[in-house]
Amino acid sequence: MDVNKMDELYYYDGKDLGCTYTKEYTTFRVWAPTAEKVALCIYEKGNGDCLLETVSMEPDVKGTWYKKVEKDLQGLYYTYKVSVEGETKETMDIYAKAAGVNGERAMILDFKTTNPVDWEKDKPVSLEKNTDAIIYELHVRDLSSDESSGIKNRCTFLGLAETGTKSSDGLTTGIDHIKELGVTHVHLLPLHDFGSVDETKPEDNKFNWGYDPVNYSVLEGSYSTDPYHGEVRVREFKEAVTAFHKAGIGVIMDVVYNHTYRTKDSYFEMTVPGYYYRMKAGKFQDASHCGNETASDHLMMRKFMVDSLCHWAKEYHLDGFRFDLMAIHDVDTMNVIAKELYKINPNIILYGEGWAADTVALPEEKTAKKTNAKKIPKVAMFSDNIRDGVKGHVFYEEQPGFVNGKPGMEEEIKFAVVGAIDHPEAAKGKEPGWAIHPTQSVNYISAHDDLTLWDKFAISNPKDSVETRKDMNRLAAAIIYTAQGIPFMQAGEEMLRTKPSLEPDREYNNDSYNSPDSINSIKWRQKKEFFTEYQYYKGLIAFRKAHGALRMADGELVREHLHFLDVPKNVVAYTISKPDETENLEKLCIIYNSNQEEVEVNIPEGDWNVYINKTQAGTKILDKMQGGTIKVPGISALVLG
Ligand code: CA
Repeated sequence: MDVNKMDELYYYDGKDLGCTYTKEYTTFRVWAPTAEKVALCIYEKGNGDCLLETVSMEPDVKGTWYKKVEKDLQGLYYTYKVSVEGETKETMDIYAKAAGVNGERAMILDFKTTNPVDWEKDKPVSLEKNTDAIIYELHVRDLSSDESSGIKNRCTFLGLAETGTKSSDGLTTGIDHIKELGVTHVHLLPLHDFGSVDETKPEDNKFNWGYDPVNYSVLEGSYSTDPYHGEVRVREFKEAVTAFHKAGIGVIMDVVYNHTYRTKDSYFEMTVPGYYYRMKAGKFQDASHCGNETASDHLMMRKFMVDSLCHWAKEYHLDGFRFDLMAIHDVDTMNVIAKELYKINPNIILYGEGWAADTVALPEEKTAKKTNAKKIPKVAMFSDNIRDGVKGHVFYEEQPGFVNGKPGMEEEIKFAVVGAIDHPEAAKGKEPGWAIHPTQSVNYISAHDDLTLWDKFAISNPKDSVETRKDMNRLAAAIIYTAQGIPFMQAGEEMLRTKPSLEPDREYNNDSYNSPDSINSIKWRQKKEFFTEYQYYKGLIAFRKAHGALRMADGELVREHLHFLDVPKNVVAYTISKPDETENLEKLCIIYNSNQEEVEVNIPEGDWNVYINKTQAGTKILDKMQGGTIKVPGISALVLG
């Protein structure tokens, strides 16, 4: 049947898809309008030969199948046997919220039994505006997989929650380090159940980023201490969330609804063949380059995404979501998602990649891509403008950007500094701003993808000394932390994280999605080795948090208060006048000099205090200066107030 016809005839808007547990009975409802027959199989465990009973389900409203089992089923597992066109397949419930090992059977779980102590008091962090957030992107394993972390529960959710840990140098590690650095949110790489790591073989210590989703509303089992009992990972992840919230840090989850790990034998396909994906003439479309693309424009897929996200936000008190290849989703879906999630948590942060890996099988004006950002005002997007403008293009590794020696990048930097909005003094004669407000621009120069920032400098600037590259690194970070928008960094950037390559022809790893822990882990000895850089990042973050003028949420305020100065080549300088009560200085003056040489810059008259210079950053006054012509050292930032 045609998908539009299915949506018209069978769209089911009930809240009870999946299993709904009570002590007296559990109900099961699955949407399978193309099925001739559906049976419910109840198992004692999440794997192995332990079938307790098979009961047939009754056809019910809007193409759903229903069964009420009047027993206490807590702790048991189940699957559905779905028969379509004479063929019967045993599948996971796509609405499963807990599962056994490797996500092969759903678990019937009373979620109330999974709450850690004081969970009722646990709350997402409060945030006045998205631009107050400072995001730290982290893989669950990376924080603790290296011995130098001093963390006991290595590679697990519990490792995220471990406080009081130190490296052999006596410096804080783990969550204490994150708190000390001052970021407001951690963004965790995919936590939903993914397929590339065999959960029955923890001894293999296999690593994967997790962009290979199998069960969207179930936690990944390999991050728990016991993947066989579905309640354990739920409790342990809640422990991690509580620990972050106690430290005043929000938790953002990376979600990958745009494609599934498997295609023809995915649980979507086994349940309703052909419905959940975009197809053309029987062929799976593939804008993800992973074999398929899901169809958020089909109403039950849209509902699936909304229901799944609401579950995560409510059950785990999450603070935000990051959408992988968001341009595969349509703008209407993203707006519905934003509306529903803001109802659950008014402080939630939503952002995504405003692109896809290939052409999306949707009219362009409907895709949630960067240039359609204005159609999705509550959702932010990664700014590839600032990423490539500051340190050079992400795919052309040898190519430098503003801080590492490419001339003529001033306009790119100005566009980044205003948070990618329309501003009469920024990006003159170029593309208009894609963001309505800076709240829509996620500013970053490092993430799990591609080279680390430090490795990028090694490749783009092999002739420059390590000291010069450190200067470039500090200037790059100063731009990110003073620009309008939402700053975002890869964990470890603050201690010059590096990922060596295991391939003979490459020195650095630009795609470590399945590389071992030895490549991906944070090496805590680097905190001591690059302590000056670490202190600089910490100071930048403290300064940003102290100054509302750097965190304006309204494009109009930015146009009114942020103005650029006339300066020499390869320099960008601007002033921001006090926009509101969140700023205690009358005026800030910010200068980025990317020339190797010192330059003279004319700044407004008056008495200025220095807060950030080439080697130091923070909230303390480092020096005093008179307005007029001042000298700015080569490859450095200068921030005055
Ligand atoms: Ca898994």
